[in-house]
Amino acid sequence: MSRPTAKLVLFDVDYTVLEPGEVFAAEGYRAIGERYGLRLDPSRWHEAERAAYEVVKRRRAELGATHDEGAYHAIADAVINALGGGPPAAVAACTAAVVAEWVRLENFALYDDVLPCFERLRDAGVRIGLVSNSSHDLDEIVASFALAEYVALTVASVEVGLAKPSPAIFGVALQRAGEVLGEPIMAGDTVMVGDSVEDDVKGALACGMGAVLLDRAGRYDLPFPTIRTLAELPALLSL
Ligand SMILES: [Mg+2]
Repeated sequence: MSRPTAKLVLFDVDYTVLEPGEVFAAEGYRAIGERYGLRLDPSRWHEAERAAYEVVKRRRAELGATHDEGAYHAIADAVINALGGGPPAAVAACTAAVVAEWVRLENFALYDDVLPCFERLRDAGVRIGLVSNSSHDLDEIVASFALAEYVALTVASVEVGLAKPSPAIFGVALQRAGEVLGEPIMAGDTVMVGDSVEDDVKGALACGMGAVLLDRAGRYDLPFPTIRTLAELPALLSL
């Protein structure tokens, strides 16, 4: 990669640093649905994923880059209906229950490759930031997962009001990094790492940052620097 001197590496949070638990996968939805009398069919998970993708795309078209507080609610509703749905009141109750689980950090874990990667970056003098579109409290994430010794700054779309891929949120990250480091940090000094092609990779590239696609499932074949795990990141950054 052509950016061996990155001073700052920004990480997306959901599905990049934090792994959502089983409760947010097919079997988890089935079990929550059962509580509300719904017979959700886990074998329709592929349709559910597609429905979630479509609803996110539609909301993005409507809302532009505005932070989308209702995103997870809409995703849960779309997933439940794609898995079979049921009476509207039961679907609504089940959706609310899934959203309530999403808010609880106990349902998330750090991917195994996060801390070794953060350690390598920190030891190489590279600063680390978290930039997220989720509604989670990033300070709480840093505290809960003992990341304070690695993470120099956090930026959440909920506080900026605009979400990735808006240049505004990346601009806030650079500004904050400059304050933390005591010297201006330019986009060219920065690499963004995330699992979203649109939000993380294209958003960062449009700002003049470097970008790395984290493709944990091996889904993509795109002309961007791509890694399957964060263990590959230090070498990609020539560290
Ligand atoms: Mg993500």
